[in-house]
Amino acid sequence: MTQDMAEGLAGRLRGRVVQATDADYDQVRAVWNGMIDRRPAALVRCAGTSDVIEAVRYARARGLMVAVRGGGHNVSGTAVCDDGLVVDLTPMRGVRVDPAAGTVRAAGGVTIGDLDSETQAFGLAVPMGVVTETGIAGLTLGGGLGWLRRKYGLSCDNLISADVVTADGRVVVAESDPDLLWALKGGGGNFGVVTSFEFRAYPVGPDVFFAQVIHAGTDARSVLRAYREWAAAAPDEISSFAILWHAPEDESIPAEHHGTPIVVFAAMHSGTPEEGEAALQPLRDIGTPIADLSAATSYLEAQRFFDEDYPAHVMRYYWKSRYLTGLPDDLIDVLVELNEGSPSPHSTLDVWQLGGAFARPGTRDTAFGDRSAPFMLGIESNWENPADDEACIAWARRVHTTLGPFSTGAEYLNFPGLYEDSDRTVRDTFGPNLDRLAVVKRRYDPDNVFRLTHNIRPS
Ligand SMILES: Cc1cc2nc3c(=O)[nH]c(=O)nc-3n(C[C@H](O)[C@H](O)[C@H](O)COP(=O)(O)OP(=O)(O)OC[C@H]3O[C@@H](n4cnc5c(N)ncnc54)[C@H](O)[C@@H]3O)c2cc1C
Repeated sequence: MTQDMAEGLAGRLRGRVVQATDADYDQVRAVWNGMIDRRPAALVRCAGTSDVIEAVRYARARGLMVAVRGGGHNVSGTAVCDDGLVVDLTPMRGVRVDPAAGTVRAAGGVTIGDLDSETQAFGLAVPMGVVTETGIAGLTLGGGLGWLRRKYGLSCDNLISADVVTADGRVVVAESDPDLLWALKGGGGNFGVVTSFEFRAYPVGPDVFFAQVIHAGTDARSVLRAYREWAAAAPDEISSFAILWHAPEDESIPAEHHGTPIVVFAAMHSGTPEEGEAALQPLRDIGTPIADLSAATSYLEAQRFFDEDYPAHVMRYYWKSRYLTGLPDDLIDVLVELNEGSPSPHSTLDVWQLGGAFARPGTRDTAFGDRSAPFMLGIESNWENPADDEACIAWARRVHTTLGPFSTGAEYLNFPGLYEDSDRTVRDTFGPNLDRLAVVKRRYDPDNVFRLTHNIRPS
């Protein structure tokens, strides 16, 4: 893009155009994953829906690749692209809570932290993810799993409507098209740029009970078996993880365990702290923990629990996933060995407890698809040194391959690696929903403009 072209576009915007010649270009093009270093021709810092329309029309008229940035958190870095135009929603952070209706409107650049602050001001919460800097846009369009998943479902299950700028630069209110609204519930960023979301919200907090129990790696097998039994009978108010990790040098963990394999149980109860403490006691009674940091806390603090483990820009990340058909003893053995063999102490294998409200919608009710798996495994390779890229990515891929026989074949598309083998993943994940998704895609994006995602090809 020449300077003249950029100025022509800027003249039609309320926001601004950022190019390589601007002082803040490197800052604006940076995304959360420090491994991603892409150089767009321009980034349009959108102030509202009309800017998004201008940006999409401009890119289409000139045949530029389009990337869409919500929170910039996707591990794959598809919020930015080389040489193309980034529709950057970062400045669009408005949230409007309607306490009487129990609904919330949030703009396309809102983060989970923004949404939590505003909804908690009214004693409400929308089910979102567990790290507050994540964008609600990418998260919701791909599903959205968090501490309320077993009580109130996925983020996308609570989506009532959305304003969508389509590939031909029109705005469509998704509520008016049941097929589009259905497709946005897990079908990803394939159908247009969502500039505003409307969600259902629920009374939660201000305080909740949060369990955090740490076990030595030597006990990993026995405590994971007990966790499996506990999880099968846990009430929907509880959403939990069992995390295989290596102990950080944290004073809350006895020094002799630092750097050694551990298992962490983390769980939140969505009721009052008193109800939560009683309901979570059986999880805390498993085995002999090396630390139990469980306590009543604010919902906002519980939402921030993992934040400091995921610094932006400085660390390198490669994440994949598997839906597990169960947690049999031989799988537990495999997980323990894979964790022990991880090349980075920052990497984790996260067993997400599913079931409850997550599992209630049928496969065809939302684009998201099959929800029968009782657990999901998040395969998180996290490391610091570029020299370790190959080993850390290879470890995550090895975990992914090894777990194939224990899995449904579908994957959680918000943990997409680098979208390698994307066509197969899309087919295996959407299953019987793929044909309907492809029809919606053809109606709204027949030229496949929005393809930097788990791409659904127009039918
Ligand atoms: C530290 C961390 C923690 C996470 N925790 C969770 C978690 O607890 N639960 C969970 O479910 N997921 C979690 N995720 C995954 C997260 O859901 C995805 O990374 C998601 O894509 C992030 O959304 P974003 O808006 O920040 O993404 P971006 O990187 O901005 O965008 C990713 C893609 O989403 C699409 N997109 C983004 N915004 C829009 C829009 N407004 N309109 C249309 N398409 C859009 C585009 O296709 C884009 O390429 C986590 C990710 C990270 C990095």
